[in-house]
Amino acid sequence: MNVHAAAKAALLLALAACASPPPSPPAAAPAAAPPLSRFSFTAVHFGNIPVELCLYAPDAATAQAAAAAAFARIAALAAMMNDYAYEPPSPLNRIAAEAPAPVPVPSELLSVLARAIELHHITQGAFDITLKPYVQLWRVSRRLGELPPQEHLRAAVRYVDITALQLDAAASTARLAREGMWLDVGGIAKGYVGDEVLRLLRARGLPRCSYHAGGDMVFGEAPPGEPGWPVLVPDFPTADGTGLRFVASNEAVSVSGDVFRFVEIDGRRYAHVIDPRTGLGVTDRRLTCVRGPRGLDTDALATAGLLLDEAAWQAALAQVPGCRGQVARARQESEVPGQ
Ligand code: AMP
Ligand code: MG
Repeated sequence: MNVHAAAKAALLLALAACASPPPSPPAAAPAAAPPLSRFSFTAVHFGNIPVELCLYAPDAATAQAAAAAAFARIAALAAMMNDYAYEPPSPLNRIAAEAPAPVPVPSELLSVLARAIELHHITQGAFDITLKPYVQLWRVSRRLGELPPQEHLRAAVRYVDITALQLDAAASTARLAREGMWLDVGGIAKGYVGDEVLRLLRARGLPRCSYHAGGDMVFGEAPPGEPGWPVLVPDFPTADGTGLRFVASNEAVSVSGDVFRFVEIDGRRYAHVIDPRTGLGVTDRRLTCVRGPRGLDTDALATAGLLLDEAAWQAALAQVPGCRGQVARARQESEVPGQ
């Protein structure tokens, strides 16, 4: 998973509710229910992304224990899906390391891979976790400030093929049919991990909670007395110029765009999302925001929205029950208020 999204996490999205704690909840709750207080916790995961958890709990000890369990779960899942870990390889990288042999994989990873394959088809190929060779070339480009040589792009084509990723649910194995291929779940994992965190917190009796990692958020029940969790995407162009604002509860929200993660070469901005047709970062500057029941889906669909034309993207969103999305052209620097 790419580790350069800290700025995006800090700046692209402002989870307004966490920034300014609301007044204490009203004391008119049913006699048996203790009043809930708000707690928020931040820890760095997925390389260098600050992950913020907000939750309402009856006391600090309950909140701290739940947050510790949630962060332990995040660490375990992030380690499982880490595409940087080679020695020893993460469970994700073991699939590449042992290709073309089938490799036993944990059930969580199997779920993510299976859904990633479905989302590949839903997005007509735009979302593709086998694009990792191009992602690698993009990372080198960013370091060198130049585009990858054509022969490197041509050589990579052979190793980008979702049909070569073969899963056996009964045996809990995954296999890459071609040696030299590898996988990158950076466009889907943070959303999935949010779903798992919400599941954990709900199971601990703390359904009023939120998860926020980079562009991916998952929300539980609304804070006491509130209609939902306020979300602000300040960079999203809106008619009044103040950004996209709404309240969310019991849903996931994902935002993707080139605002903070890009490389500029010869005056062109190449986003960190790769166009499978060119092997290069997308240059058509956009921001997407997707809402839906699962972070697993909203994360991937927000990423795909940078690639598909709007009609094709809306057709993809329509195939995932409860999902809806908005896309806008990213504001140019000259249009950003205050610049
Ligand atoms: P996100 O920030 O969720 O939009 O995901 C971007 C990340 O997904 C990139 O940093 C890559 O790791 C990965 N990625 C890039 N392009 C694609 C693509 N077309 N399909 C799937 N994953 C991608
Ligand atoms: Mg994504």
